[in-house]
Amino acid sequence: MGFAIAIDGPAAAGKGTISKAVAAHFGFAHLDTGLLYRAVGAKVLTGVDPIEAARALVAEDLDNASLRSAEVAEAASRVAVIGEVRAALVDFQRAFARRAGGAVLDGRDIGTVICPDAQAKLFVTASAEVRAARRLAELLARGDATSFEAVLADVQARDARDASRAQAPMVAAEDAVLIDTSSMSIEAAVAAAITAVEEART
Ligand code: C5P
Repeated sequence: MGFAIAIDGPAAAGKGTISKAVAAHFGFAHLDTGLLYRAVGAKVLTGVDPIEAARALVAEDLDNASLRSAEVAEAASRVAVIGEVRAALVDFQRAFARRAGGAVLDGRDIGTVICPDAQAKLFVTASAEVRAARRLAELLARGDATSFEAVLADVQARDARDASRAQAPMVAAEDAVLIDTSSMSIEAAVAAAITAVEEART
């Protein structure tokens, strides 16, 4: 049986960076499950029905640089409240988690709904202000014109929607190790995550 690592948390807390580094460290495959919701959100922005978009999703849909935009992130969090959209994406995620070589999945509901039996669970968080500052730097580097206030408002709106939805709300699993990266360097956060996984392996 493979080894599954579930890494959940809000936007821009560092879970993407940590997940990639943890996957590379253990030689596991990595799935950024936010991309699934972003791909559905991107289709909805072109007029496709969200449930149909989720059911028709193929791996190539995840390979699209435009999925990283703030507009698509907003659309993703809107489609993510729809139960049929979430249901259509479950099998793909669970099959990925069962890969023989080990898997890291990051998202909002991995440790609670997708892989409640994951051998290691982390919940990576940071204050809304720190996350907004990080997201702003990313967006500015990509040439998106925006302000700290606008990004903070987006982060807070997305957190509220993700945490309050009826279906698979964003919440730390009871057995997840909490990592608050607000005042941690990337290196320290990655090291803390690797230590937590090592402890779960023994
Ligand atoms: O992680 P990322 O910011 O790419 O996710 C985009 C949106 O997709 C999130 O705001 C959330 O609403 C949704 N999502 C989710 N469940 C996941 C991953 C992402 O609901 N496992």
